[in-house]
Amino acid sequence: MTETIVEAKNVQQTFMISAGAFRGKRPLHAVNGVSLQVEQGEVLALVGESGCGKTTLAKMMLGLLLPTAGDIQIDGKAIATLDRLEIARLLQPIFQDPYSSLNPRKSVGSIISLPLRVQNDPNPETWKQRAEEIMALVGLPPRVFNNYPNQLSGGQRQRVAVARALINRPKVVICDEPTSALDVSVQSQILNLLQDLRQELGLTYVLISHNLAVVEHLATRVAVMYLGRIVEIADTDTLFNNPQHPYTRALLDSVLTPDPSMGVPDSQLGAAYPNPVDPPSGCTFHPRCAKAMPHCSTVAPRAVPNPAGHVECHLYDDQEGRKAS
Ligand code: SF4
Repeated sequence: MTETIVEAKNVQQTFMISAGAFRGKRPLHAVNGVSLQVEQGEVLALVGESGCGKTTLAKMMLGLLLPTAGDIQIDGKAIATLDRLEIARLLQPIFQDPYSSLNPRKSVGSIISLPLRVQNDPNPETWKQRAEEIMALVGLPPRVFNNYPNQLSGGQRQRVAVARALINRPKVVICDEPTSALDVSVQSQILNLLQDLRQELGLTYVLISHNLAVVEHLATRVAVMYLGRIVEIADTDTLFNNPQHPYTRALLDSVLTPDPSMGVPDSQLGAAYPNPVDPPSGCTFHPRCAKAMPHCSTVAPRAVPNPAGHVECHLYDDQEGRKAS
């Protein structure tokens, strides 16, 4: 039986942003009614174009932003009732850029053991021992313990970031584009490391990535976000082999192939990504959708459950689909 570690219930995050001189402020719904569960041991990927709300959702899971509405539960407890240290014991982030996420004035040993000191671990002797243990686990040689980040390669820096995230054995690791700042040659090493650590330590990942090849390699389930909503969620095999939502299909169609003779693929997305401050009515994807029906511009689709998860599209809603025929 699976255990839910993170649960989001109808979560919203609204920012008030300036509408221009003398025009006051307008709401931007960065996350607009998201519900999902993250189960023990899975790798749940959040995918979608920039501005779709995936990073904002991850920040709310990490307690860096409180939801404007709705509720997030971590390990069965409402996140609003947990303090920062409790959240940090349960969830840790790995950010995309190991060049800026590590303090250049601190040694590798100091960076990796920092979470122990922040959590008031009283025994300095154990800091070094645990830092050395986790360094071995992530493939860092003991000799770099006293080195500084600028003395390491990009791959080694990301291993330091992974070690820092894991030293307190969190239940969930939020990986925000964990390989996008790295050379292609070391990307697969870090991906394989994350895969091995997950199996060895029983970790759960929430993976944020633009790179669908990375998602297909690492994720067990994928949530596709568009303008603050999850428009499709399914297990990885189903999503890649039988995508349902027209947006998911367009995202998959836009992936470049290794064969240069194939040219740049046509994603059929047409119109540009809408302004999130002024989203389209009805289904917010309708201006870009090749399958749009007349009522798509006026009626917002509901989440239609299916064996793999759910899809938010009138094409799969018997009731709304019949309206169109
Ligand atoms: Fe396209 Fe209509 Fe489905 Fe939206 S609801 S994705 S516009 S078919």
